[in-house]
Amino acid sequence: MVIQTMWKDRLCAADLEGCAERIGRLQAMGCGLLRFAVPDLAAADVLGALAAMVSMPLVADIHFDYKIALRCLDYPIAKIRINPGNIGGRDRVEKVLSASAAKGIPIRIGVNAGSLPRDLAARIDAGELTRAEALVLAAERELAIFRDFDFTDCLVSMKASSVADTIRANRLLAERTDSPLHIGVTEAGPLIAGVVRNTAALLALLGEGIGDTIRVSLSDTMENEVIAGREILNTAAETSERAKKRQGVGKGGVTIVSCPRCGRNGFDTHGFTSRWQDTLYALDKDVTIAIMGCVVNGPGEAKHADLGITGSGNKVLLFRHGEVIRTITAAEADGAFREELEKL
Ligand code: SF4
Repeated sequence: MVIQTMWKDRLCAADLEGCAERIGRLQAMGCGLLRFAVPDLAAADVLGALAAMVSMPLVADIHFDYKIALRCLDYPIAKIRINPGNIGGRDRVEKVLSASAAKGIPIRIGVNAGSLPRDLAARIDAGELTRAEALVLAAERELAIFRDFDFTDCLVSMKASSVADTIRANRLLAERTDSPLHIGVTEAGPLIAGVVRNTAALLALLGEGIGDTIRVSLSDTMENEVIAGREILNTAAETSERAKKRQGVGKGGVTIVSCPRCGRNGFDTHGFTSRWQDTLYALDKDVTIAIMGCVVNGPGEAKHADLGITGSGNKVLLFRHGEVIRTITAAEADGAFREELEKL
């Protein structure tokens, strides 16, 4: 099960080193596939240069122009995403498929509820099809084109911004094809709304053994998309034997336990958690970290934590399995926390 996110800026040659560094951090956090919009040939060349610099598998997302797809295939990319229906005639589709086959690069077929073929959209309006059925029919049309060319190394993504449509469409297609599915709710909204909607859809599908790659689409950072994806996969493995078996792993990596804070607090759990979140998720350790608001309840309530932090005013405590191991000042807290983290 692979977590995917999408690069949120234009591809630009100006800061490839900076991009590569950020990609490395995303990979450490658990991102296994990173998609880039490639609107022109210049962007294809930038993506190609980047692909040669990083070990993260990169996906080129192409619309309309088959030549961009062909250019991307000159580089060490991991996958391309096209809609065969929108990159020109069959001769162009064939060129892309044979180049992909020759290089052993898979293709993701993307179908979106917002851009369905006109005839299918009309049948939804006429009440003849549900949106989910139309998504499946659109995906099957694209798959049929691939089949005509004997190209089977593909994966299907049917995106809708409705949780119900996402669940129904993927259930339906999973019954009708063996092709791997990329799942997630698209245009799901800002952080909270997007996480809630994606969690609802993904837990339902993962619990039924549906889905091979996931994306939690958010109007927020790539890092938060990856963290949300990790938490959803962990929850799916925790709540469904089927999902656990499919993922091949149970819970993995760092678990953050942090209290909501209340009037008893003497330590800013919100600030500390948001400051440390990305670093903690990038740690290659299977540990529980507790960030608790008060000395009275914090260490006791987080007894299971491998490392915890709490405090009262200028006095900050680090604890391990409920036992205080260090007492420091607020100014020393981050440094001491880092030192203890490294010892785990
Ligand atoms: S740990 Fe302390 S500050 Fe946090 S919610 Fe519990 S009582 Fe309140």
